[in-house]
Amino acid sequence: MAIKILLVEDEEKIARFTELELVHEGYEVGKAADGRSGLEMAESGKYDLCLLDIMLPGLSGLEVLRRLRKTSQMPVIMLTARDAVMDKVSGLDMGADDYITKPFAIEELLARIRVALKKSALTESAAPRKEETLLTCGRLCLDTARHTVFYGETAVDLTKREFLLLQTLLENKSIVMSRDTLLERVWGYDYMGETNVVDVYVYYLRNKIDDVFGEKIIHTVRGIGYVIKD
Ligand code: CA
Repeated sequence: MAIKILLVEDEEKIARFTELELVHEGYEVGKAADGRSGLEMAESGKYDLCLLDIMLPGLSGLEVLRRLRKTSQMPVIMLTARDAVMDKVSGLDMGADDYITKPFAIEELLARIRVALKKSALTESAAPRKEETLLTCGRLCLDTARHTVFYGETAVDLTKREFLLLQTLLENKSIVMSRDTLLERVWGYDYMGETNVVDVYVYYLRNKIDDVFGEKIIHTVRGIGYVIKD
């Protein structure tokens, strides 16, 4: 998916030229020509980075930045006029990530964009996750948000249904799950197919995990169903 850049600039020539260069570089670009619509678009959360002119009709770039920073830490690079030292200082004080002086060389802008994006990606990955999304059993780790399964360092490739079955078992670690319960949770109430489908999918999972890594993950409880335990 292309990285989306919001360009808030009222000077049409600069806006058009910058947009062309950014698109050429593979970015997706959204444009606003005044402070108010710029702020609205920035707050939409659809963009990865904002290029923000300071002298704008409606709200000034600094005011847009001040309001945006109440809700968003998206990277912002200010576009400032030459020698507007105060603007640069205020912008950085208000939480701009960087600034570039107009007229700018496009190569420099592109370099600053790359740096700002990299910095923001690092901050994001260092921040604590909002929700715990990892389910583990020994070396087996299932990430519900990323939809990935790893055994140690090795990725395990599962189908959607296999993933859901494994997730259900991991969510109920140490609890024996009957075939009926698993059928209901993984295939749904209205499942009309073969009732041994649970056994078949446990077999698939064992093929991909137990057999490959040589560890017994899914245990059969005779006459009842299955359980995953540490
Ligand atoms: Ca302007």
